[in-house]
Parts: sequence; structure tokens; C-alpha cells
Amino acid sequence: MAIVTPPAIVILGRGALATARRVQALYAGAQVHALQGRVEGDVAFSELGVHLRACYARGTPIVALCAAGIVIRCLAPLLANKGAEPPVLALAEDGSAVVPLLGGLTGVNVMAREIGAALAVAPAITTSGELRFGACLLDPPEGYALASLAQGKRFVSDLLAGATTRIDGHAPWLEAVDLPRDAHARHAIRVSAQAWNGNPDDLVIHPRSIVAAVGAPCEALAQSVHRALAARGLAPLALAALIAPASQMCDGALAQAATELDVPLRFVDTATPTPEAVLSALAFGADVESYAQNEGGIGLACARAPLDPLALGRARGKLTVLGLGPGRADLLTPAARAALDDATDIVGYATYVDMAGPFRADQQRHATDNREELQRARHAFAMASEGRRVAVVSSGDPGVFAMAAAVLEALEGSDDAHWHAVELAIVPGVCAALATAARVGAPLGHDFCMLSLSDNLKPWTVIEKRLLHAAQADLVMAFYNPVSRARPWQLDRALEIVRSVRAPQTRVVLGRDVGRPGETLRATTLGALRSADVDMRTMVIVGSSATRGIARGDAGEWIYTPRWYREET
Ligand code: SAH
Repeated sequence: MAIVTPPAIVILGRGALATARRVQALYAGAQVHALQGRVEGDVAFSELGVHLRACYARGTPIVALCAAGIVIRCLAPLLANKGAEPPVLALAEDGSAVVPLLGGLTGVNVMAREIGAALAVAPAITTSGELRFGACLLDPPEGYALASLAQGKRFVSDLLAGATTRIDGHAPWLEAVDLPRDAHARHAIRVSAQAWNGNPDDLVIHPRSIVAAVGAPCEALAQSVHRALAARGLAPLALAALIAPASQMCDGALAQAATELDVPLRFVDTATPTPEAVLSALAFGADVESYAQNEGGIGLACARAPLDPLALGRARGKLTVLGLGPGRADLLTPAARAALDDATDIVGYATYVDMAGPFRADQQRHATDNREELQRARHAFAMASEGRRVAVVSSGDPGVFAMAAAVLEALEGSDDAHWHAVELAIVPGVCAALATAARVGAPLGHDFCMLSLSDNLKPWTVIEKRLLHAAQADLVMAFYNPVSRARPWQLDRALEIVRSVRAPQTRVVLGRDVGRPGETLRATTLGALRSADVDMRTMVIVGSSATRGIARGDAGEWIYTPRWYREET
């Protein structure tokens, strides 16, 4: 299979950088991941094992410029459960040796050859089939699927033991492969959409060449598609896409069926799509063997070559609003990371888009400097309604004074059916108040409220009223947007209101750039707090009457608000 995800090229020191850059030049979108403090690359990491495991778990191919043994030890805990296995190679830092380690079925030897050729060294290929035939027979190119890996391994062993083979069907990628061919051989490589009949002498490879079209979603749709395929002897692995009318875009049963069938779900603007119409729109008309609609209302058509599902109709677009957390990579949730990896387009305020990167070459950044959140949300919907997968990024949590509400506001204000058909998801993040609180202890350990002191979107009188009520209710308060150049006096006025109710010794915590480089944390009191201590990158937590400090073992204090509460007398 072709390498679709560009590799992470991992280096531990300056000596490896030149070789890493040469490998990088071979793969569009590849980035050099460099050990922090030792060498500068495109992506910094602090712990090799943690980083390699994270890349591997995400399915990112790895080229590690270090000893093979180190790579093996780092990845060992993940190898027991054999799932998808990205290619992993060890490369001598001077480029003198290329060792493919893992991913025999996902192209590791292809990469080893490519890198070997670029560095003018022989790759250390150890796979017998590869050595004999010069290619991996069990890793057909994009658009083709191997019917059975177990059977494939048996077939390759037979050839290695001296059997010959013929090729039935069209297998252009095998033309250059040095196979023991014989037109009358008992063994055959069969390239066909027909299901494998169990013949142990066949290596069956299915071109993904069938489309299944449904007019209306129904219960147990995946099973119906399976039955329709089976009735014609066709292999489910030969299915390229499931096609449905665009009017059914939001139907969960369709999405479920496509997931079960493990094929893309594509939509067309006809009420009753037929596979013939879908394919003839692609000028495949002459090259298609069509089948009549079957009873379940499922139409099947089979092209003579693999189909590119992206050329069939369009996808349901997706818009995910996600929170990046305060900034540190390890405070970004795996769900948010997955949404970023899945996105075709990333939308957001430039600082946050930078924080969310780096991105692959095929991902488009739409970083804006303006603070026009609604405009940004509308742009995101416009792209998603064309079938793109858009990630809208906010710092912290997207639902806390951030983009999620703006996105929903844009949706509410629109009567465009395409916008409403977009698959919308909100992925939470660690907000600034929670990140700050955790650094100093548990000041939010009892009832608290979050207030934005910005009067850009609400009148200042409302803010004053809420501050007074919150102070009187003895809630711990987390102030977002405490000051800005355009709002110089508001914080002082806010503190005046709080001080009118709460004692000067009330605990206050200031967290600036929490979870980012240059983080500072400061504990003070309401009486001592000056607005000059605070800027727009600061989170202000004002304690309740119960918030207290205890000495830490190292230095300083833990600040917390007890879970119990005593009414003041
Ligand atoms: N959605 C964000 C808040 C955006 S409002 C969240 O959930 O955290 C912007 C305000 O959040 C800033 O003015 C500041 O008060 C606070 N803030 C955001 N990130 C911060 C950080 N890393 N450290 C301290 N305060 C932060």
C-alpha cells in the first residue's frame, strides 16, 4: 500500500539532523521530531518512549534515527495486541544503515528501499517473499484488498517452496514483479470482485470496484448489502462505497451501515440513486457490469477497475469544535487530538491554530487574526457543508467563553439546509480555570462560578450585578478576560465590588500562561491584589470565605476550598 500518512522522522541529537532532512525530502508533509533541549526540528518531544508510542498508536509511520534496540524496547508494550501496524524503521544517524522493523504489510520494505536508494545503502530486508520476488505480494496497492491474510501467507510459502503461479485478472502492479509464472500453473493470483471460493491454491485480491446504492435507509442495512453481494457471489471487500440520496444525510442507520461495511458513505442529489447513474456520471458507463435492483432496494454495480470513492458523489461534512486545553500537548485530550488528525481544514484564531499544529501538508489552515467569532463559525459551516471535515479550535474548553457557542449561534441563525445536515460535534478541553486550580491545589473544591469580565458582548451593568450576587453568595469566582487594553478600568471596579462584600484576607490565585512556556502562578489576597498584576493572559481565582492555604512539603502553599461548609454566624 502507498504510504498515505507522512512519517515522523525522530531524532535525538544534532548529529542526526542532516540525515533526517534527507529522508524528509522524500515524503511530502513529513516532519522531523526532535528531542527537546538537544536539537531543534519541526516538532519537539520530551520523552522518546512516550512519543514513539503516541505516534505508533496514531498509525503514524516512524523513521527513528537511533539504535534498532531502543525503538523495539520503546514499542514493545504495544506489540502484544496485533492491530493496525504502521511502518517502523530504524536508521543509523549517519545514514549508513536502514533497518525495517515493523509493518511488513503496510509498506515498511517499500520505505526501506526508498530511503536506501536516497542514501545509497542497501536496506536490511529480511522478509523471504520480498527477497525472492522483490515485492510484498500480500500488500496490494491502494484500491485493492487481500481476501485472506492467512491464505496469502500459505500461498507465498508455496511459491517459496517452488510452486509456480498464473495471474487471472488485471494486476498492473505485478507486471514488474519477478514471479515464477506459468500460464498452466495450479496456483493462481486472482484479481476479482468475486468472493474467494476457498480454493487453497488461489491468492485472491479484490479490486474495490463495487458501489451499492440505496434509496432509503432501512433496519439492518449492512446485512442487506451483504446478502445482495452474496446473492451474486461478490466479496464485501470489493465494495468501494455506499451511495445514498443527499436528503438522507443525517440518517444514523446509513452511517452505521457504512461503518459496519467499512466503506465511505457518499451522497448524490437524486432521490433514488442507481449505481448505474452514479458510475455513468463518472464516465465509467461502458466499463460497468450493472446489476438490477434487488428486493431490499439495494442496487449494485461493479466497475472493471478500482473506484476512487472520493470521485463518487460527496461526503457528509463534519464540523468539530474542540478545546486545545491550556497549551501543553499532554493536556490535549486524545479525542481532541483525533479530531485534529481527522480534519481536512483547521479554523481558528492564529495563536490557537499554531498551538494545535503541526499539520500535514494535506491539511489546510484557516488562521485569522480577527476576533470575529461568528464570521469564523460561518466560514467553518460553509466549508463543512461542501463535505469537508473542519476542526474549529479554541484554547481551553470550546464551550467556555469560546467558539462552541458561536458555532451554535451561527447555526441557529441559518436556514441553509446544508448547514443543518453537517455532522456537528463538540469535543471538550481543560479550561483555564481548571488548569490553574490544579496547579495550586483545589480552590474550586466547592461551589464556584466562572465570569467573563469582558463587556464586549454584555453590558457592564450585568457584570456588576453578577459580581455582587456571586460575592454575596460566597461562591469562589474564576475571572476570564480580566483586563485588556480596550478595557482598562473594569477590573478595578470589579474588585471594588467584591471587596465591598468579601474580607481583604480572602485568598486569590493568579495563573498566567498556565500550561504554556513562561507559566507563572501567584498566590495573593483580595486586599493585596492590584490590577497591574493582571493581564489578558491571566486567570484570576478569588476564593470564598472558606478558601485556605496549607504548607507544601517542598515550598509554598497548597490552596484549597474544603468540601464542607459552615454558615457564617
Ligand atoms: N476557552 C478558554 C477561555 C477563553 S477566554 C478556556 O476554556 O480556558 C480567554 C481568557 O481565558 C483569557 O483572557 C484568560 O483569562 C483565560 N486563559 C486562557 N488560557 C489561559 C492560560 N493558559 N493561562 C491563564 N489564563 C488563560
